[in-house]
Amino acid sequence: MSVTRSRFVVSLGQKAYEAISSAILAGELAPGDPLDRKAFADRLQISLAPVHTAVSQLEADGLLVTLPRRGTHVRGYRAEDVRGHEVVRLALETAAARLYAGSPVASRCPELISLSKQIHDGRLTRMERSRADIAFHLALVETAGVAMLTEHFKRVMNLGLFLAACGVLPMGMGQGDDHTQLLDDLSHATPDEAEARIRTHVMLKGTLHPP
Ligand SMILES: [Zn+2]
Repeated sequence: MSVTRSRFVVSLGQKAYEAISSAILAGELAPGDPLDRKAFADRLQISLAPVHTAVSQLEADGLLVTLPRRGTHVRGYRAEDVRGHEVVRLALETAAARLYAGSPVASRCPELISLSKQIHDGRLTRMERSRADIAFHLALVETAGVAMLTEHFKRVMNLGLFLAACGVLPMGMGQGDDHTQLLDDLSHATPDEAEARIRTHVMLKGTLHPP
């Protein structure tokens, strides 16, 4: 397979990943529902190969499972998913905070402030505000500048949204902690202070991911 072809498949795989994960997170597909790979390929007007790629990724992320004779379906959640999600999210966010503390995060303030306003915007739905919160935290983690960290963070947050959609994680928006204030604190923090600050934020009750 040439490099060009491989990139093409990866990008269509990403499209299929977005479509399938959105259907799961919107509740269009519920835990236990079978996944019709052909229907997704037809809907997106793509071949089955990128759908298979997306399914493998979603299995790794914990949203889908494939069993012998039962095929692929939306996975039910397990109790350890919640704990695993919380522990891994905290580990990744605190590691990132040490790297983006101070001027790196200060340089992204305009973009982050607009997200922080959405998180606290009462006119938006809970899901929209949760997504804004996730986009805010993803932008923070990206600012650490370590691609692998960002990649793992996306996965763990996708699992978090799935758990929230299943009703096992509260879909709060962390309103107990003002994100604009958080941003200001992180912009003026040393690595130690930023790590402590983000730990407090992530562990606050009423956020998407309680302690
Ligand atoms: Zn938050």
